[in-house]
Amino acid sequence: MIFLPFHTRRLVTQVYFGLKPGSRKKGIVVDMARPSSNLADFREVFAKAKHIAVITGAGVSAESGVPTFRGAGGYWRKWQAQHLATPEAFARNPSRVWEFYHYRREVMLTKSPNPAHLAIAECESRLSKQGRKVVVITQNIDELHRKAGTRNLHEIHGSLFKTRCNTCGSVKENYKSPICPALLGKGAPEPDAADAAIPVEDLPRCEENGCRGLLRPNVVWFGETLDSTLLAEVEKELEICDLCLVVGTSSVVYPAAMFAPQVAARGVPVAEFNMESTPATMGFTFHFQGPCGTTLPPALVRHETELIS
Ligand SMILES: [Zn+2]
Repeated sequence: MIFLPFHTRRLVTQVYFGLKPGSRKKGIVVDMARPSSNLADFREVFAKAKHIAVITGAGVSAESGVPTFRGAGGYWRKWQAQHLATPEAFARNPSRVWEFYHYRREVMLTKSPNPAHLAIAECESRLSKQGRKVVVITQNIDELHRKAGTRNLHEIHGSLFKTRCNTCGSVKENYKSPICPALLGKGAPEPDAADAAIPVEDLPRCEENGCRGLLRPNVVWFGETLDSTLLAEVEKELEICDLCLVVGTSSVVYPAAMFAPQVAARGVPVAEFNMESTPATMGFTFHFQGPCGTTLPPALVRHETELIS
């Protein structure tokens, strides 16, 4: 595939395979629309949008210094998230998995929303006064969108600050630090840190009447399925949105890989804000490369046509 340096919005390149009439050049026939990075054009679309769906991923959290425990250097002790964030790991060693999540909860006490989180929340608040809607669909479990003030929020992978009972299924918010006395001072991330080996009866337990079941973090682990009710709500938002933003996620990685191309296929503009372009980028209307804390605020600031701010 040949990419040429185009600067024109939605310019269609055609590289021909075989002989084009009047041409002797050989090549492959491709209809390829390149996404635009023209902010003024995006702002025209933004100004008309009535229902904006914002899909966010790990990149937004990373800009707040939240570790992901994935990829190069992303370790807690000797493990990455995919080794500990599984139902099997929890069944085998609930103490170790709770240490991992306790550490992640404690880390979040020192993290704050960044300009991307704040721009999304401010945009929602402002547009709601104009009868326009912003909905955030995030795979992040750190609640930074909530902290920034986002109200219309779907946390499709759950939250670090919710627990679910393994026995009765009860889901509760939980902001205790530490979440139980036995985890106080535990969860050290260094590779040589020893397992606390906390007896299961001393791990977080359900406080529903007489239950005392073992609690787990209410997050979606590897190998688990998303909540079907929540997924149906998200699907509905994606079907009615008239602008979709993909922020801090590569669009080859779930969930943007599943959601954004589906919106683009309806002919609805999709704008991607992230550090790199991917094969999926080519199916979108706009792509703004760079840290989303830098690229997003000017994109979502009040437009001159907005009468109510
Ligand atoms: Zn229970």
